[in-house]
Amino acid sequence: MKVAPDAGFATRCIHAGQEPDPATGAIITPIYQTSTYVQEGLGRHKGHEYARTSNPTRAALEANVAALEGGRAGFAFASGMAAIDAVASLLQAGDHVVVTDNTYGGTYRLFERVLRRYGLTFSYADTASIDEVARAVTPATKLLFVETPTNPVMRLADLAALGAFARERGVTLAVDNTFASPALQRPLELGADLVVHSTTKYLNGHSDSVGGLVVAVRDEHVEWLKFVQNAAGAILGPFDAWLVLRGTKTLALRMAQHNANGLAIAEFLAAHPKVRHVFYPGLPSHPQHALACRQMRGFGGMLAFELGTVAAAKAVMERVRLFALAESLGGVESLISHPATMTHASVPPERRAAFGLTDSLVRLSVGVEDVDDLRRDLAQALDAV
Ligand code: PLP
Repeated sequence: MKVAPDAGFATRCIHAGQEPDPATGAIITPIYQTSTYVQEGLGRHKGHEYARTSNPTRAALEANVAALEGGRAGFAFASGMAAIDAVASLLQAGDHVVVTDNTYGGTYRLFERVLRRYGLTFSYADTASIDEVARAVTPATKLLFVETPTNPVMRLADLAALGAFARERGVTLAVDNTFASPALQRPLELGADLVVHSTTKYLNGHSDSVGGLVVAVRDEHVEWLKFVQNAAGAILGPFDAWLVLRGTKTLALRMAQHNANGLAIAEFLAAHPKVRHVFYPGLPSHPQHALACRQMRGFGGMLAFELGTVAAAKAVMERVRLFALAESLGGVESLISHPATMTHASVPPERRAAFGLTDSLVRLSVGVEDVDDLRRDLAQALDAV
């Protein structure tokens, strides 16, 4: 049941990395809930010694996501933040990183509040512009850390152009692909060196696990990440690895529905008289719609909309019934959130203002429910404005 390297994406979702269990023939990779493995004699074992170093359930997930992203190897961590921290561990004191200015608030906090203490420096640039990126690069720059689309204003970066730029300058390009998932966007195919995920979101897809993953292509990255995963030990546990594996089996199906519902809701909001602006790369009004069509296979379920006043935003968030007011994204259920006080509260207000993240902006993670129900729910909530 080996999957051909050129197998289609949905086939890879279901089969890649997941041989039937060699011990029992179980078709689904079991949860190997063990901390250690018996050794037949000194130095003789079945490939596993201690579960921080390796675990068959985690290994199946790592191989699965590596195949989905088109990478050489994957490494699963306890959260998306632990995965980003592992990528940063490729650097040394004195190194400089150029980061998407509108990066996830937790990434900004890790870089500014933790990693600066270890002698790393960070500059934030609008990675939609190669010129801005070029201006931010210094002789000490070793890493370009990019998010596309960004959260929540859905700005894109041209991954093929950044890949070429990074190669020319000898800088590593890491892309946080959490918002798109490999179903919609595969940065390694466009020239990135590393892909990071919060598996908490679309890869797991059911809002019942926190995890992270890094996929690498270059030998030196694969070796270091394997080493640091064991040395620092922020591994994903076997039950969470199993949950994410169950999630990735339906990734292609779920993303098709997120795409359809996301576009339908974006169009509904764009036509609504009380909505001032909708941020969604699938709308022709998005300034980077052409780029989105080029580098994405669908536009996903994430969007944001501007209501003009905080009172209006509050009214909608408190009146919806089907959309749940909650942080996070990428699950089958629809969520609504207020980025300024929820996901981006750790970003200083002047930085939020610089990339259009106003206090009256509302973010949706559009789930896979019947879209008529979602539209009806938003319509009745907007009536209150
Ligand atoms: N990257 C992005 C784009 C995210 O949205 C998040 C979390 O919301 C993370 C990374 C961090 O992931 P986790 O919450 O799994 O640590």
